[in-house]
Order: sequence, then structure tokens, then C-alpha cells
Amino acid sequence: MNPITYFRAADADQALAHAAGGARFIAGGTNLIDLMKEFVMRPAALVDINGLPADAIAPTAAGGLLLGATARNADTAYHPLVRAQYPLLTAAILAGASPQIRNMASNGGNLLQRTRCHYFYDVATPCNKRLPGSGCAAIGGLTRQHAVLGASPQCIAVHPSDMCVALAALDAVVHVRSVAGERQIPFADFHRLPDDRPELDTTLAPGELITQIELPPAAQFAAHFAYLKIRDRASYAFALVSVAAALDIGDDGMVREARLALGGVAHKPWRVAAAEALLVGQPADAAHFAEAAELLLSGARGQGENDFKIPLARRAVARALEQAAAATHDNTRSERDRAD
Ligand SMILES: Cc1cc2nc3c(=O)[nH]c(=O)nc-3n(C[C@H](O)[C@H](O)[C@H](O)COP(=O)(O)OP(=O)(O)OC[C@H]3O[C@@H](n4cnc5c(N)ncnc54)[C@H](O)[C@@H]3O)c2cc1C
Ligand code: SF4
Repeated sequence: MNPITYFRAADADQALAHAAGGARFIAGGTNLIDLMKEFVMRPAALVDINGLPADAIAPTAAGGLLLGATARNADTAYHPLVRAQYPLLTAAILAGASPQIRNMASNGGNLLQRTRCHYFYDVATPCNKRLPGSGCAAIGGLTRQHAVLGASPQCIAVHPSDMCVALAALDAVVHVRSVAGERQIPFADFHRLPDDRPELDTTLAPGELITQIELPPAAQFAAHFAYLKIRDRASYAFALVSVAAALDIGDDGMVREARLALGGVAHKPWRVAAAEALLVGQPADAAHFAEAAELLLSGARGQGENDFKIPLARRAVARALEQAAAATHDNTRSERDRAD
């Protein structure tokens, strides 16, 4: 048995005061508790942040939206302002997990969920992310789910979140707090590539608390968006490849602005500015979508077993852009989810 202390914080000051010395914040617990049961993570102390006043979802003066860190994924997805202004985020959240898990999972916890690499979960195997310097059992092992972009010789894991792929496309900003003060991290800089420090998933410092996630105004993308998730079964499975696509299309049919992010292919949501720029000022058509897909996947390299992800991702990008342009939105779940 591992001795562990538990503290339920009433506010951020209390949470931060108890966060030192190997403590972990716990929100929904849907990832952390699993990892503790498997002995993958062994925090000395848990600081429960569910009592913090950090679950509000509120508009900003600039016309954006602030999502509380402890707001539940389901409450976020179904919030009227999220549905109206950021339907891409609603679609991405609802593509993940199950209704029960989304009811429990928090927004902050979603950003910090760990990889689903089998070897990371299996403490009998070497894993540089779990135990730095021990090696990587995935390289030369089972790699169906692993990275084709941004991997390193130390780690080829992918970030498993759906929500984060949409947040990346929407240029979200993560608000964090520590005993030293507050700072804001652009989403592109929040998750990191493995390089030679695969144990670090993000640029968050130890003891830093996510307080809010800010969405800049994005009304221009509310009509033409798609979140396309390709997985081994239709629900309750992590993405092999996912695409968040958003287009701002003028009355003349030309693209005014484009956003594209890939999930399931790298250690962080994958964006390439040139792939988005290529679409701007062009007709929203299949030829340009294919070109953008090619550019987004440039430099992709498989491990053998996961080579299929590269052509799959190219096709998924083109299809997501077609869905976004046509405003079909057929990958958005219905209200029935709420009752499940
Ligand atoms: C069976 C199953 C299927 C799933 N399928 C999917 C899927 O298809 N797509 C998908 O995207 N996700 C999926 N998930 C993952 C799920 O979305 C995450 O487990 C969930 O979002 C984590 O949120 P949480 O509040 O439960 O986090 P917790 O488990 O409480 O915490 C996770 C981590 O975040 C840290 N943390 C939490 N909040 C904060 C904060 N405010 N500040 C700093 N640190 C914090 C914790 O210390 C911990 O390290 C699945 C999970 C399960 C169990
Ligand atoms: S891919 Fe990363 S998480 Fe998986 S075994 Fe290798 S080091 Fe560990």
C-alpha cells in the first residue's frame, strides 16, 4: 500500500499552498485514478480542486469565452454559448469518451490527460515517459496508435485528447496560476513534442494550476466546421486520426480564413501554418483541400505498423474540409447524448 494524503481545497490559494512536494491536483479523476490504480503515477498527496469556484463558462469583454478549468466536459459541450459560437469544440468534446466520462471529466484534466500508449500503462515494460532513461518499448513494438509526426528516438507516443485538437484550431489560451503569480500560455505552446524529455507532456511548471481556458472570438467559423474522428470502433475509442477543420468562406465562395489541426498523430495537436495559409484566397474545393492535406502531413514518418495513418490522415483532412465547406456537420452528436 502507498500512503497518501488527501486535501479538498476551497479556493485556488488553498490548492496552491498544498501543491508542493509531489502532490497532484485531482478534478474528475477519470485519468489520474486509473493511472494510480496501475501504479503508473504515485502521487504522495492529492489536492482535490472540485470545491474551487472555477467551473464558470462566461463571455469575455473581447467577445470570446472563458471556460472554467473544473467545468465538466459535458457542461462545456452543451453550453449554449459554446454551441452557438464554437460548435467545433462541441463536436470535438462529444466525439470523445462516453457520456458518463464526459459528465465527470473536467476541462483542465482533459488538457493534462496522459498518453494511451500501452507500454506507458504497463509498468513491466521500459518507458521513457513513465521512467526517464528506461527506454521505449513501443519502438519496435506495437505501434498502431503511435505518432507519425514530431516523434523522437525517446518517445513516439501521441496525445489522446479530442477536445485539445479543437482548442488548438481555435487558438485557445490556457490561464494558469502558481504561488509566483499568473500567466497565460498560447495553446500551441502548451503541449510539447517529446524530444529528449518525453516525461514532460506540457510546458506547465510543477505545482501550476490551470484556472481557465480562453477562447478568442471565432464567429467566422461557426458555420463551416467539422471534427472528424477516425477510430477502431464507432464510440468509446481514442482517435487513430482526428481532424478539426474550420473555414471562413465569403459570399464569392473564396476562403477568407482557415484552421486545421490533427489529433492522434503526434505528441501534441498538429498544426502547420502554411497548410492553412495555402487555402486562403482560394476556392473551397477538393484540389486545394488535397494540397493542404499534403502540406499538413509533410515530413510524416511511420513506424511500420502505423504507416497507414499517413494516407488515412491525408484523406481525413480532405474529407473534414469538404464537410466544413458544405456545412454538413454530420459528425455532431445530438441532444440525445444528454439523456444517456
Ligand atoms: C475509458 C475512457 C475513454 C476515454 N476516451 C476518450 C476519448 O475518446 N477522447 C478524449 O479526448 N478523452 C478520452 N478519455 C479521457 C478523458 O477525457 C480524460 O480522462 C479526462 O478529460 C480527464 O479529466 P479529469 O478531470 O477526470 O482529470 P483527472 O484525472 O482528475 O486529472 C488528470 C490530470 O490533470 C491534472 N489536473 C486536473 N485538473 C487540473 C488543473 N485545473 N490544473 C492542473 N492540473 C490539473 C491532474 O493532476 C492529473 O495529472 C477517456 C477516458 C476514459 C477513462
Ligand atoms: S512511446 Fe513514449 S509512452 Fe510509449 S513506451 Fe515509448 S516512451 Fe513510453
